[in-house]
Amino acid sequence: MPAVDIAIDVGGTKTLVSAFDEKEVEPYSSEEFPTRPAEGIDSFFERLSNICLRMKGSRNINRWGLCTAGAVSPEKGKLIWSPNLGWKDVELFKRASSFLGTEGVIENDCNAAAFGEWEFRKDIESLIYVTVSTGIGMGMVVRGKILRGASNAAGEIGHTIVKADGPLCTCGRRGCLQAISGGRGLEIRAHDSLGIEIGTKEITDRAELNEPVFKEMITEASETLGRFLCNLIDSLDPSVLVIGGSLGKNRYYFDRILKTIEENYYRVPGKKVKIELSSIEPNPNILGILSLSRKTHKD
Ligand SMILES: [Zn+2]
Repeated sequence: MPAVDIAIDVGGTKTLVSAFDEKEVEPYSSEEFPTRPAEGIDSFFERLSNICLRMKGSRNINRWGLCTAGAVSPEKGKLIWSPNLGWKDVELFKRASSFLGTEGVIENDCNAAAFGEWEFRKDIESLIYVTVSTGIGMGMVVRGKILRGASNAAGEIGHTIVKADGPLCTCGRRGCLQAISGGRGLEIRAHDSLGIEIGTKEITDRAELNEPVFKEMITEASETLGRFLCNLIDSLDPSVLVIGGSLGKNRYYFDRILKTIEENYYRVPGKKVKIELSSIEPNPNILGILSLSRKTHKD
C-alpha cells in the first residue's frame, strides 16, 4: 500500500492541505477551507482532521508538515503566539500528530517558504524570502539552516518601524513597514484618506492607470519597502532575495521595489545579490514544509 505525505499551510483566512505521493513534489490532491480561527482551536482541528483523513483515503500517512504565521517553536512543538489567528500557546504538534502520526514537523510559514525556495536553488550560501501580501514577513536560510532567533521571532520585518509618526499599524504602533507597504495598510490608508472601501489589487491597478492619489500611495509604499530591503541586503548579504506574496508578485509593484533596491544598495566589490520573484507555484509554504518534513524524517 503506497503511503502519503501531507503538507498544511494554516493562514489567517484559509487553510490549504496538499497530499503527495512519496518523493513527488506535485500534489495528487489539494483542498482549501476557511480557517475561521475565532471558532476555536478544537473546531479547527476537527475540520482539519476530517479533510486529512478523507484525502489520505485508505493509505497510511508517512510524514506531515504544518506551517502557520506567528512565532512557532518546532523544539517545543508549540505555536507560541499568532496575532493573525488570535491563538496563543497551542500544542500544535500534539494536536496534529493525534491524527497524522508522529513523523511530522511544525514551522513558521515564512521560514518554511524560505526553506522551500532554498531547496529549489543549487549551490547558494544563503537566501532571504520576503512575502508581501496583507502583511509583510521574512524567512532566512543560511547553508541549509533556518534562522529562527532566540525566541523563534526572527523575521518579523512587517513590524519594524520605518517612519516616525507614520500610519497606525494593526499592532498598535505607528510607522511599521507593513502599515505603509503591506496590502492591509494600503487599504486602511485608502479608506482613511478617501473614505472608500477598495482592495489592494484595485489600488495597484489604478496606480498603474496613473490616477495620482493611488500612484502616490504605491510610490511611497514601494520606495519604503525597497529602501528597507536594501538595508536587509546590506546587513545580511544574502546570495538571493526572493519576493513572494500576492502584492510582492504584482509586476507593477515589484518593478518599483526592484528599481529602488538597484539604485540604493551598497556596492561592495564582488557583491552581487540576485533578486527574484518566488518561483514555486502556487505556494512556497506548502513545498517548503513538505521538504522540511522529508528532511527531518528520512526513510
Ligand atoms: Zn506593526
